Amino acid sequence: MRFDIVTIFPEIFARILEHGILRRAQAAGLVAVNAHDLRVFTRDNHRTVDDRPFGGGEGMVLKPEPLAEALNFLGMGPKPAQQAEGVSGGGENAAAEDLPRAKARVVLLSAQGKLFTQAVARELAALDRVVLICGRYEGVDERINLLYCDQEISIGDYVLSGGELAAAVVVDAVTRLLPGALGNEASRHFDSFGAADEEIEADEKGVPRSQHGAGGLLDYPHYTRPAEFGGVRVPQVLLSGDHRAIRRWRREQQLRKTLANRPDLMERAVLSNDDRKMLEAIRGDVRLNLTQGE
Ligand code: SAM
Repeated sequence: MRFDIVTIFPEIFARILEHGILRRAQAAGLVAVNAHDLRVFTRDNHRTVDDRPFGGGEGMVLKPEPLAEALNFLGMGPKPAQQAEGVSGGGENAAAEDLPRAKARVVLLSAQGKLFTQAVARELAALDRVVLICGRYEGVDERINLLYCDQEISIGDYVLSGGELAAAVVVDAVTRLLPGALGNEASRHFDSFGAADEEIEADEKGVPRSQHGAGGLLDYPHYTRPAEFGGVRVPQVLLSGDHRAIRRWRREQQLRKTLANRPDLMERAVLSNDDRKMLEAIRGDVRLNLTQGE
């Protein structure tokens, strides 16, 4: 898989890419990440990338021409519908290593985009190529979005100073999902928002399948040595060696944590009958505590 990032600050990415899973995934040839300096695609002596907004108002806007040049250079000219409408510049200068657009996507990072979730990360991980456009200032001239971008992505309901941190988030989350990127392939199923059980082989006879993949829930809490810290002991079950009991406890914790921190995820979670029983018991506990507190 290949990422191309279009930015006015390409140097931001160097340090992020030289550590941990991202470094290893690049070394193993699973992913290539190229940051392209937008100023290279300007034609004036001052290498101007921004201009004042039409209609007045605060700040500056990233000009369309350098971005269009950069995208054409990367072989990502205007979307086919736009080409049909007569927009010129459809990739004549495409980089030699251009990949078919069918398995590629041009993404505009924007606070106005659709929310980036694990499901979107999975969608992107199935592609060969993702081009990420990083805005700055007040944002990017909207014609770049209209003519070139397949998707507008926001990493959360807050405003960043630029798209670079958002691009790094997307690259990291997607790379983790590429087969071979993690030391332990199964771990991505157990992570928060992980896949449903159906996609994972049950590895222990008699253990309910719901005790395996996260099925869209949050992860369970993790503990390591020492067994006591700050006066708090590790839950006894984790020291018991009883793997069935440990799985049950972890699943219950996932349900409790999701209910407490992200009840919205419950609607889409893949729950087994076993999960539902646990959930009823948890809700019962909560109701009991509330009544006792009155
Ligand atoms: N005026 C824009 C708005 O209110 O939507 C904010 C522009 S922001 C200061 C500059 C750039 O940061 C954006 O063009 C975008 O590329 C990036 N950015 C800001 N917040 C983001 C978010 N939540 N997700 C992704 N990118 C973001």
